[in-house]
Amino acid sequence: MAQGLIALVAGAAFGGAAGWLLGRRGAARRGAGPVGAHLLPDPALRWLLRAHGALGVWISELREGEEGPSNERVVDAERLSVAQISAVDRRVERARDQEQAAAERMDGGTLVFRGSGGMAVALLLPEGHGPEALTRAEQDLERLAEGMRRRPQLVALAQAQSDEASDETVGSIGLRLAYHLERVTGGEVVVAAIEPATDTGTGSIPSVRVVGASGRADRRLLDSYAAPESVLARVARGELERTVTDAEFMGGAVADRRQRKRAVLVLPLLDRRLPVGAVALWLPDAREPTGAAFAEIAEAIANAAPRIRRAMRSHVDAESARTDPLTGLGNRRALESALTRQDSSEGALIYGDLDHFKGLNDALGHPAGDAALVHFARLIREQIRTADVGARIGGEEFAIWLPGATLEAGLRIAERLRVKLNTTPWDWQGRPRSLSASFGVSACPATSRRVENLPAQADAALYVAKHSGRNRVEPAGRVPGG
Ligand code: GH3
Ligand code: MG
Ligand code: MG
Repeated sequence: MAQGLIALVAGAAFGGAAGWLLGRRGAARRGAGPVGAHLLPDPALRWLLRAHGALGVWISELREGEEGPSNERVVDAERLSVAQISAVDRRVERARDQEQAAAERMDGGTLVFRGSGGMAVALLLPEGHGPEALTRAEQDLERLAEGMRRRPQLVALAQAQSDEASDETVGSIGLRLAYHLERVTGGEVVVAAIEPATDTGTGSIPSVRVVGASGRADRRLLDSYAAPESVLARVARGELERTVTDAEFMGGAVADRRQRKRAVLVLPLLDRRLPVGAVALWLPDAREPTGAAFAEIAEAIANAAPRIRRAMRSHVDAESARTDPLTGLGNRRALESALTRQDSSEGALIYGDLDHFKGLNDALGHPAGDAALVHFARLIREQIRTADVGARIGGEEFAIWLPGATLEAGLRIAERLRVKLNTTPWDWQGRPRSLSASFGVSACPATSRRVENLPAQADAALYVAKHSGRNRVEPAGRVPGG
């Protein structure tokens, strides 16, 4: 009986833009992305048709954000005329708009339909069906309607998963966009993105960081921050629209003095109207791009913006998962990942622990303890270079990983930090308080051939330092009391 299944595409046009299509509806939709538009219902419709020996299956839906309804049907075109089909089309649309559910006799058979929530589903059963067939049809229509209602979530879920799977970095998207735009405009290009604040609740304005610079642009701008009131930052934050300015667009950060006099077009990067960042395009002949060139620029920007936003989001999430919120240093996870990096084969590891910290907490209260931790963290940050990793790995326990450093260098830095903590004033409630810490230092290859042994060694050395009177630095490799 299935031999007569024919796709009837755009048979009767009616109701203005509303047309009934079979299958393939999603193909023409913009931004369908990697998710198949056919999670439902096309195959389901065919199965349903066969299972019920029906003459046709109909779905009509009004979807948020889309003009006109989305309609689909699968019909047995050998057994139905175009007039019969379009009569059902109209009936189903009415059931959708008036939220009707019923079984009605029509020319050709019995139409069973369910309309609710801006959607209607229907089955046309041939003449002579029994009462059980009607009941089964009603049950299956309920299931179909339920599946249709869940479809947006399914699509969103699949979309979210494929977004997550994409591991593009902000830097790679920014770089590619910059090169692409340089090819179109013939001038230097800088791409900047808003960096959401990692510490929530501070209410500070987001930083705007250069994430891409084209081949001719000054590469030193990469990773630099635009001055908060610069044109670039203001366009990036959505406070200014497209602006033509000069090479001061970053707030004087452009290193190359020859650039200063030239015209620069700054365009916003928007993802569905949300500000993501901005691009700065040097205009070689001071003329703004128009026509096809501008269309290509706009398209490249529109394509990159959502990807930059996504990549920035996951970058910030990854950062915050490795950050200690109290001190802003790394956390234990950040230390572990620094130690397990492939290029981490040599270096020194310092463990430091505040002395008698429990006493300080008990005497002055927990907020004082927290302030002391922040104070110690600041001193650590001042003592280390950018390649080093400072982390708070426990309550009042800190670690510093110095990649490539020798044991001697590690001991020197720990000693400097110890002295610094003793001598840098720390006030609590208007009174200077003294702080001290004990340190253990291990190093690869001096105390172990394997970096993975360093934490236990540094911890053991710290233990020795504590038990030898505190406020001191101990290298790994000595036994307690020895
Ligand atoms: P020692 O000199 O041997 O290191 O003694 P200590 O008192 O510093 O060490 P102990 O491990 O006995 O106590 C650590 C204390 O640190 C206990 C806990 O109340 C406190 N602490 C842990 N985390 C935090 C924190 O986040 N904030 C504050 N204020 N205190 C913390
Ligand atoms: Mg302690
Ligand atoms: Mg401790």
